[in-house]
Amino acid sequence: MCDVPSCPLTCIPFRNSAPNRKSMDSQLKVSEIFSSIQGEGLWAGFPCFFIRLSGCNLRCVYCDTTYAYYGGQPVTIESLVFAWKNSGLRLVQLTGGEPLMQSASLPLMEKLLAAGARVILETNGSFPLSRVPAAVIKVVDVKTPGSGEEQAWMPENLRWINSGDQVKFVVTGREDYEWARSFILSHGLHLFTTVLISPVWGQADPAELARWILEDRLSARLNIQFHKVLWGNKKGV
Ligand code: SF4
Repeated sequence: MCDVPSCPLTCIPFRNSAPNRKSMDSQLKVSEIFSSIQGEGLWAGFPCFFIRLSGCNLRCVYCDTTYAYYGGQPVTIESLVFAWKNSGLRLVQLTGGEPLMQSASLPLMEKLLAAGARVILETNGSFPLSRVPAAVIKVVDVKTPGSGEEQAWMPENLRWINSGDQVKFVVTGREDYEWARSFILSHGLHLFTTVLISPVWGQADPAELARWILEDRLSARLNIQFHKVLWGNKKGV
């Protein structure tokens, strides 16, 4: 749950989410839920309901959600679907942490889809995408060397990425950019999906990144974290 005192948004409390007798398969450890503006990718600017799950298997050096590594509240799938419905928003994003660390994220996505949600999954690329429901929009990281987690990428995941998905490179500087460019061109990523290149907030210069993309005529989308432009780099937005 968002605990930012000055947060301009209305957080939705977990109703009916007290620990109960349901099996752990129907529960997830949740760091926070909130309504905000989608800040990244093809859906940037749209109102979106966010479900941030706890736990991550990686430790990227620039991570801006370290608070989601540990803890979290157990919440049933039913309560999360209820909270999403209550938000009045069609778009819902599962994020983290790393959502696919928790197996119950799969039935959660299925239940959300069945209830009529448009579901986005943000994942760090280190878990198999094969079991993610086909209707889910996947935003998949390819970790660059500057993240410190370059080895995390699962090459077989390329099979499961299609035109409705997005592949994201978060770059710390020129070296990461060149690495990402090489990856994109060698795999022809831009030919079958949307490629996002995102500067590390406060570290890589977005204008410089824009110049590099333009100079290279790279078929990639400069991905600025819109929510941080609006509200700053803080929790719950
Ligand atoms: S994968 Fe995401 S949540 Fe996990 S350490 Fe990296 S940036 Fe943080």
